[in-house]
Amino acid sequence: MSKQSIFLSHDDDGHSMRIEAGKVEELTSQDARTPADALTLDCGGGLIGPADVNAHTHLYSGLAPLGMPAPEPAPENFVQILERVWWRLDRALDADSLRASARFYVAEALLAGTGALVDHHESPNLIEGSLDILADACQELGMRALLCYGATERNGGIDEARRGLAECGRFIKENQRPLVRGVVALHASFTVSDETIAEAAALCHELDTVLHIHLAEDSADVEDAKNRGYQGPLDRLEKLGALRPGTILAHGVHLSAEQVARASEHGCWIVQNPRSNRGNRVGYSRFLGYSDRVALGTDGYPSRMNDELVTLIEEATQRREKLCDVCRRPERGRELMAERFGVPLGANPGERADVAVLTCEPQAVRVRHLVINGDLAVRDGALVNANVDDIRDEAREQAAKLWERMRAL
Ligand SMILES: [Zn+2]
Repeated sequence: MSKQSIFLSHDDDGHSMRIEAGKVEELTSQDARTPADALTLDCGGGLIGPADVNAHTHLYSGLAPLGMPAPEPAPENFVQILERVWWRLDRALDADSLRASARFYVAEALLAGTGALVDHHESPNLIEGSLDILADACQELGMRALLCYGATERNGGIDEARRGLAECGRFIKENQRPLVRGVVALHASFTVSDETIAEAAALCHELDTVLHIHLAEDSADVEDAKNRGYQGPLDRLEKLGALRPGTILAHGVHLSAEQVARASEHGCWIVQNPRSNRGNRVGYSRFLGYSDRVALGTDGYPSRMNDELVTLIEEATQRREKLCDVCRRPERGRELMAERFGVPLGANPGERADVAVLTCEPQAVRVRHLVINGDLAVRDGALVNANVDDIRDEAREQAAKLWERMRAL
């Protein structure tokens, strides 16, 4: 089916945009009239620009803001946060709660201006087929997404890891959704054996794709790799052949300057998640400036990329980092996504149209229109493909059941 032509007319800077067959067209000033054959959207009072990219997040924790019970006893370190919160939540997920979680997170993300996200998924009691649930949520609502299952041995040993890797492989081979791609993933170096890392690396080579993994998020990950005879988790992945151009390393908080530069030499991406790192008290890296392949993610926090950037600027200012470097990280996410989709994405002529029209009001930036892959996902501040009230009702209903299952674990 051919795509509807879209004309975004005259924003506050006097810019217009025509989107034809999903691509941004070059406009001359003479062209900036309302074409008869296009869907015309008023952009007065707003600004046309590229949609945001969230380069590392977790759709599975999307229901957490809806009253998730506090862990008891309160965690005292990062590993306890995982054990008492996220590794209980992920075991309690079933198909209905995962679907509601993904749809709720994606809907709110679109309404906040995120047009693409990189997800890292785990649901140990629902491995096979879980990526299809996430992919359907993204495709149906109009979100561009890179999906994976984070294989781990922490619940069921190497068999569990193999099932996780198999889910990645199955999904990458079968997925036909235009807005979605798959990659291979491991949870983190400290929850897998050398054997599993080598199998993940082999799968990446076989399918010509990359690995997405949490790396050096906390010092516990570094200690674990050292105890296994490596210099650290990056060295471990390198020696086991898991680093390829495009590899997505989430966090990198505890990498040295030399290790950040080495990741860059391999062509790896590092994704910084300042709100999560602050919340988990795992530290902050001043060394990420040693790579120019650093993007920004929310690590499960609501996908409001402006909030993430504000936190990043606060942290960077305290440490006298060069703000011109850190402020480029949000746009690096578009490059990461473009590499995996094999086409340039954004709001420039010739790019696949991932475009947001934002209006600035006192103390708030609002999304007026959002066009993803040339299709409207948000129009006049409302989802085009679903009713957000229905999604929120379903999320609240599933959240209440999920918290009951979590308490019973
Ligand atoms: Zn994460």
